[in-house]
Amino acid sequence: MECFICSEEAERLPAGGDWAALNCPDCGRYRVTGTLVAIMRAGNEKLDREPTLQWLARRREFDDFPLIGEFDAFVVRK
Ligand SMILES: [Zn+2]
Repeated sequence: MECFICSEEAERLPAGGDWAALNCPDCGRYRVTGTLVAIMRAGNEKLDREPTLQWLARRREFDDFPLIGEFDAFVVRK
């Protein structure tokens, strides 16, 4: 499926919860809550690349599969 950060093709992983789980060659492994996916679909939005990758890098210091929620997200128009 399309990566929420870079829009390139990313591998969709089994979710096991109310989130989408992706493995992107560029952005790495991350999850997005179902609520945030719905918000971005409704507004034709994606995650802003630079701040999101910085946020993920900080999270990965203690969580190798970060979950991005609507309150953490830096969302921009597609
Ligand atoms: Zn990506």
